[in-house]
Amino acid sequence: MATNESHTPAALGTECRHRVRFSGRTGVVACAACGLLEFFGAAGPLDPAEGVAALFGNYDLIGKVPAVGAPAAQVLAYRPARGRKATLSLLPVGCWMRVSDELWLASDGSVLLLATPNRLMVDNLTRGA
Ligand SMILES: [Zn+2]
Repeated sequence: MATNESHTPAALGTECRHRVRFSGRTGVVACAACGLLEFFGAAGPLDPAEGVAALFGNYDLIGKVPAVGAPAAQVLAYRPARGRKATLSLLPVGCWMRVSDELWLASDGSVLLLATPNRLMVDNLTRGA
């Protein structure tokens, strides 16, 4: 399991520190300073959607939340499955990060938020819930 490190707050002039941090076999670089978000698997760079699925795919949907301050109109909140909270610590707190044109993610330290402008994406993300 990756250990949590202290994050400096996102601020202008904050220096980027792009270190890959791993949870199991999935690595992530999540930089609050510049918004860089990259995923890595055992064989190299991972498609971002695959990276999100690998790290957070077993989280439990809590429900939709108001999209206050979010980069897209639909926001869904997820809670870590038992024993999987460490993956959340790979993300900076309180910072929206772009996964793709249609998916953003953020963490408040205890809950994962996914934002998307795409209604179909919401249906996919909530499938089975
Ligand atoms: Zn950076």
